[in-house]
Amino acid sequence: MKGKVYLVGAGPGAPDLLTVRAARLLGEADVVLHDALVHPATLALAARAEKVAVGKRCGRQSSAQRFINKRLVDAARRHRFVVRLKGGDPMLFGRAQEEIAALEKAGIAYEVIPGVTAASAAAADLGVSLTQRGAARSVAFVTPRVGEGEAPSGWARAAAAADTAVLYMAAGDAARVRDALLEAGVARDMPVALVESASLEDSGAVTGMLAHLEALCATRGAGPAVILVGRVLDAAVLSRPEAAELARAVAAMKR
Ligand code: SAH
Repeated sequence: MKGKVYLVGAGPGAPDLLTVRAARLLGEADVVLHDALVHPATLALAARAEKVAVGKRCGRQSSAQRFINKRLVDAARRHRFVVRLKGGDPMLFGRAQEEIAALEKAGIAYEVIPGVTAASAAAADLGVSLTQRGAARSVAFVTPRVGEGEAPSGWARAAAAADTAVLYMAAGDAARVRDALLEAGVARDMPVALVESASLEDSGAVTGMLAHLEALCATRGAGPAVILVGRVLDAAVLSRPEAAELARAVAAMKR
């Protein structure tokens, strides 16, 4: 038997930020292979499915990508209806292409269901549009993460060239990220925001300037976080009640 695999975006976290199509497919699935960050209420929609956690979370228990690819192919050989549930949008920083390549090689049919990416959820939480008429016309989604043995990346140049940048998998490496952006020509006083667990109940955001990035990121908890960079954040940085307090905290940390 050869089943079909649906690569489904689970959205940024909140279970009701799932597409209607994703919810329907979860309800029909025989087996769901899911990332570690998927909300339990989202998984609960897959009432009749066997659920298998194959998530990778940096620094935590991880399954190698090749192993995930193999499990996906095996699942499609045993089940008619397989859902591969991935955080956010499957086609952004989710290694979807490797899974697609493995499925194609095995001759297994697949379909991709887009999801709400973390950048969109973070912009929504902040109340800041990533593009703004007459002021911000380009957005870059980048990651400073470079895998072992991979060619060096031009992420900082891309981020510096865009009016707004959203950095994935970056908050754990704040000093290096700040230095790389400064070197790429981003101003020290460029507004930045760190948004953690966007869309979730325990979400949090802190804003400041690029020079403060390390101190901002030091405030973060255990949730996933994105860093936003750009003048679109100007109003957010100035208007937030904690701005003055944060500036003092940052000044104290620098001493
Ligand atoms: N495919 C996902 C991204 C996977 S990479 C998407 O489209 O969103 C994992 C990174 O996404 C995390 O390190 C973090 O930078 C970001 N991320 C995922 N969920 C997030 C959330 N709820 N809030 C903030 N950042 C999030």
